[in-house]
Amino acid sequence: MRLTDLTYAHAVMRAHGINPQKRYGQNFLTNAQVVDTIAEICADEECGIIEIGPGIGTLTEALCPLYKKVVAIEIDRNLIPVLHETLSRFNNLEIIEGDAMKIDFKEFCKDHFGDMRVCVCANLPYYITSPIIMKLLEEDSPIESITVMIQKEVADRLCANPGTSEYGAITAAVQYYSESEKCFNVAPGNFIPPPKVTSTVIKMNKLSEPSVKCSDTKLLFTLVRLAFEQRRKTLANALSSISPKEFTENVAEELGYPRDVRGEKLSIDDFAYMADKLKNNTNV
Ligand code: SAM
Repeated sequence: MRLTDLTYAHAVMRAHGINPQKRYGQNFLTNAQVVDTIAEICADEECGIIEIGPGIGTLTEALCPLYKKVVAIEIDRNLIPVLHETLSRFNNLEIIEGDAMKIDFKEFCKDHFGDMRVCVCANLPYYITSPIIMKLLEEDSPIESITVMIQKEVADRLCANPGTSEYGAITAAVQYYSESEKCFNVAPGNFIPPPKVTSTVIKMNKLSEPSVKCSDTKLLFTLVRLAFEQRRKTLANALSSISPKEFTENVAEELGYPRDVRGEKLSIDDFAYMADKLKNNTNV
């Protein structure tokens, strides 16, 4: 019997006295087709998988038969005995009690996977969606791809195009480090308990080199942060603390925008161009 079977899932939870914890973002999947599709698209068979937040083991039991090794990190210590029971038939699985936000994934991959290629797969807890994605993208680790179920609204932001209302600092960062694609939506009725919003599965393939060349990444992300912190201001006004207004307006024009353009129109390439100009301009 699979954990997507509601009778079985409820029986397991009852036997262990488990009530889904809101503070850990616990919404357990119940649709076998959704679970199987996420498991299938997240990697190829040569890979090892890091699963963040296995819950009672619903996605994990679909991952284990498909991949060389699965390491599942769960923060809720009450779920650890559940996982040891529901997943005891798999000998390519390691269950680790811990907080994924505190893990150094470079070391973690070396310790648990050696030379194996590694991908991340997760139905992420909503409360850490953006910070964990940024951590996985920014850290220098061998992780190749990140396939995660997140709130649809956040997925729309991560995959947005410049100039749209969803486009923001996190979009630019995701596009700097990865190529991302939205895979499919999942309605609230496919979880226990049902979340308030629709979810989306997205896959981010990490790039071996950032998508744009920029001599100063720190300056690039400072520009991005300032531009979106005050997105109703013109770019020149939003950046005025680090770049003279006339200088920014000139660069905006060089990029083909009006002098009063807002930051939300600029792509990550445009921000990189501006960062390089700013860095190399001795008059600034
Ligand atoms: N994978 C299961 C499923 O799809 O049914 C459960 C997904 S549930 C949305 C999120 C899981 O992440 C929960 O089991 C929760 O306890 C766990 N979790 C929450 N915060 C975590 C953290 N910082 N590190 C590791 N696991 C975490």
